Amino acid sequence: MKSAAPYCRPRVGFIRVNVTAPEGFSWKTAKNTNGEGGEEGMADCIFCKIAAKEIPSQLVYEDEELVAFKDINPQAPVHVLIVPKKHIPHLLALDPADADLLKRVHAAISKLTRELGIADSGFRVVVNTLKDGGQTVPHLHFHVLGGRFMNWPPG
Ligand code: 5GP
Ligand code: ZN
Repeated sequence: MKSAAPYCRPRVGFIRVNVTAPEGFSWKTAKNTNGEGGEEGMADCIFCKIAAKEIPSQLVYEDEELVAFKDINPQAPVHVLIVPKKHIPHLLALDPADADLLKRVHAAISKLTRELGIADSGFRVVVNTLKDGGQTVPHLHFHVLGGRFMNWPPG
């Protein structure tokens, strides 16, 4: 079997971590909301499993359409991921019909940043998208990072 090509994953704070795409990983097979692509991306999707509570996480928020949980590898004192329950592979796979989802994401950011004590000090929302965006989990998610000064430019 052809080995997966390594790619560079930019991280917040100028740290770069080289990771290798998992065996069989393919953006092309990740299903989007227009029905393109196959089911393959969804079947193995770690965030679908977290949203379905098949894999444990430290949940900090949930509503009918979203979950939010602490990142397993936090890059800041506060680092949570806001994740649609529906499998949407990446930002550009969002359908216009998903517009309400973005309103919910905004409401969740507002609520969570207040609860986590970073609404006044400030925070960063990051949506790594596809290969050059450094996306490593092919299920749309919004990183919310705070509790320290967030450097710019990112790595
Ligand atoms: P991306 O690199 O796709 O923008 O972000 C994926 C994020 O998901 C990373 O920050 C990574 O630490 C986090 N992550 C990956 N697997 C898990 C997991 O099983 N549980 C949790 N809580 N976070 C995860
Ligand atoms: Zn998924």
